[in-house]
This record gives sequence, C-alpha cells and structure tokens, in this order.
Amino acid sequence: MPFKFDVYDRSVYREPAPIDRDNPFQAMMERFDIAAEILELNPGFYEYLYRPARVHITSIPVVMDSGQIKVFEGYRVIHNDVLGPSKGGIRYAPDVNLNEVKALAAWMTWKCAVVDVPFGGAKGGVVCDPSDMSPGELERLTRRYTANMIDVFGPDRDIPAPDMNTNEQIMAWILDTYSMHARRTENAVVTGKPIGLGGSQGRVEATGRGVMTVSLAAMEQENIAPANTTVAVQGFGNVGSIAAQLLQEQGCTVVAVSDVTGGYYNASGLDIAEMREFVKANGGTLDGYAKADKISNEELLTCNCDILVPAAKEDQIDADIAENIKAKIIVEGANGPTMPEADDILNENGVIVIPDILANAGGVTVSYFEWVQDRQGYFWTREDVEERLEQMMTTAFNRVYETSQEHGVSLRIAAYVMAVGKVSEALRLRGIYA
Ligand code: GLU
Repeated sequence: MPFKFDVYDRSVYREPAPIDRDNPFQAMMERFDIAAEILELNPGFYEYLYRPARVHITSIPVVMDSGQIKVFEGYRVIHNDVLGPSKGGIRYAPDVNLNEVKALAAWMTWKCAVVDVPFGGAKGGVVCDPSDMSPGELERLTRRYTANMIDVFGPDRDIPAPDMNTNEQIMAWILDTYSMHARRTENAVVTGKPIGLGGSQGRVEATGRGVMTVSLAAMEQENIAPANTTVAVQGFGNVGSIAAQLLQEQGCTVVAVSDVTGGYYNASGLDIAEMREFVKANGGTLDGYAKADKISNEELLTCNCDILVPAAKEDQIDADIAENIKAKIIVEGANGPTMPEADDILNENGVIVIPDILANAGGVTVSYFEWVQDRQGYFWTREDVEERLEQMMTTAFNRVYETSQEHGVSLRIAAYVMAVGKVSEALRLRGIYA
C-alpha cells in the first residue's frame, strides 16, 4: 500500500518539551527537530525515527567476591536498524541511565549514516562503578549481561563495542560468552576486541585518529597551518589522549589537557607522549603531573587555544561556557558534549563546531572494518585500516561541509540533515511492514 504523504505540518510533531538539562535524549531531539523541519520530514517518519525500535532493561545478578549477591541494572537500546544491524558501545558507569542510553543509541544511528557505514544505531549501559569492582566481578557482570542479551546481540542483529569504562578485555568476555551459547566462535558479534581474537589493527586509536583527520580538514578549510595551531583537549582517555598525541605529531601545540583529576596547562606545549606514559605508571590518572600548571575544567574549556577537543562526556559546554570559548574550532570527540543552548551562541560567535556524529565516528568506522574482516576471515594491515579510515572521514567531512553550505546551516545541523535524510530514504524504500 503506498504511504499517504501528509502535507508537512509542524503541529503533528510532538509538543516541545520543557528544557530538561539532564536529558541528553532531548538534546539529541532538539537538533533532530531542526533537521526534520529542513527535510520536511513526513510526520509518520518523524515519529518512527525518534522512537527507539526496542528498549531492553535487564537485572544482572552477580556473586561479588564477598560471596554476597548484588543485582545491577543493565540496558540495551536499539534505536534503529533500517540500514543494517544495530551498532554501538556499552558503557559502565554509576550514573548511566535510560535517557542517556537512548540518546547515545540515536546518535549511533546518525553517526553510522553520516560516515556511510551500513549499520543502525544502538547503545548499552550497566549501572555500576567499575573502579570499585575486582576483575572477577567485572567478568561475571559482563558475562551475565551478555547471557541476558543473548537474543539481542548477534553479528547480523546487534553488535556491541567499547564505550566509557569498557575495553578490549570486556569485549573478549562478550565474545566468549556469546560463542559458548552459540556453540561456535562468533568473533563478529563484537568489535573493539583484542587483535588476537579477530580485532582490527588500529581500532584502539580509531576515534582519536578520526578526530585528528577532521581537525586537519577543518584547519585546511580555515587556512590555518598545524604549526601555528594550539589545541586544548578535555578528557585523557582513549579518545582524548590519542587525539592529543596525533595532533601533536601533526605539528600542533597541545597547551592543555584534563582528566578526572583536573586540567593541566602549559603555554609552550605539553609533551603528550610523556604524559601518556605518566598515566600508565600512575594508576591511570594525571594526578601529580608536575610539568604543567593546574587549571580547572572550566578554565580548560575557555583557555586561549585555536582548537578545543571536548573528549570526556555529555553536557560539558553550556551557554555560559560557550560565551567564553576562545577556540575557533571545536571538534567533538565525546558524544553530546555541547548542550543545545550553546549551539546558537557558538554559531553567532563564529566558532566552527565539528559535531560528535561526524568528529568521533572514526571508532565505529574501524568497528565496521573489524566486522568486515571477521566475516571475510581476512585481515588488513594497519596501513590499510588507516588509509581507509582517513578516506571515509574526509569524504564524510566534505559532504557535511557541502550540505552546510547548501542549506546555510551549521555543520551540526548539516550532519543531522544528511543522516536523517539517509535513514528516512531507506525507510521509504523498505516500506512499513504490516
Ligand atoms: N562507543 C563508540 C561510539 O560512541 C564506538 C561504537 C562502535 O564502535 O560500535 O562511537
């Protein structure tokens, strides 16, 4: 049956909700709404695309080292699988919640569409504090979460990956648990796993490398040479520390970085390779690093620099901080670091924002390469991976840039227009199954 394409009518859309600063799903929707309006999206498609396809909530009982049973809450949200199996990381954190996971799942849908990988979007989360758990407890938690999600995950269904506080080892446990149930080794069920289990060369560095690639593309666009560019990076984890190091290798001067222990500033440039070594030897943080001045998180975000890379977590740049940002370019290594209220301010102040769904898509791009290699049973060299990543990120950057010129909108809205347009076109082609 052909669809009835309703006359575009904004009133059919959901009522604007009151601003809820703690709701990243709303932050996602505010940008989605603007893209929907530009695309004159059919209201039925609008509703289809903003609702997650499936939401799984599960209780995860774990026998702790003390012998006591503790029950954790876990989520897996499949936002959309119109373009292919759903894809997205799993986050372990004490404050993770369903609204956050729903937003992160939707961002995965848009991110995969922006870089043109044939996946839908998903995200998982478990409410726990991994810093307070032994390796054995973490393993039991991961295995039971996986077992509870056994009908959700699968190389053709839903493919998890690392995210905040999850790593290669956790992916290896997911692979093993899933494979035990499937009664065969299924290495394509998860990405970001160790190379020895079918992981990809370059996956660990992929998000940071993608941040570097789009930063260089933006610098070229703005006619600024890396040698004359200063950079500040918020977050010194897998994304921030690698982006900082790679940008430094390209000739930029990294003047500030931060982690949970605060900010570290040195106007003449920090030695990122040395700081990464320091973190390894120092129990995982920069605490006590002496070759820099200590600054606050806010001072880092508003310091004198050309490029600011927020690579920590959501909701870091609000209206007040946005007013005081001195960087010319913001490259969002994290998901959702800029609040919607800051978008207009940054725009008006002429700050170029390379949005999360483009800037940090290097991770899922190499996850896609990993999945392809697992399914082919043929593994690529690091050079192959890096070259293809650079090509895909540069193409995506150029397309987002062109879309922004075409519609006279920011890069963020352009990226949403591209992504929502691509997914809704696939939806139109597939039709609604009845
Ligand atoms: N967690 C990463 C992200 O937010 C990677 C997801 C993946 O590789 O599936 O993009």
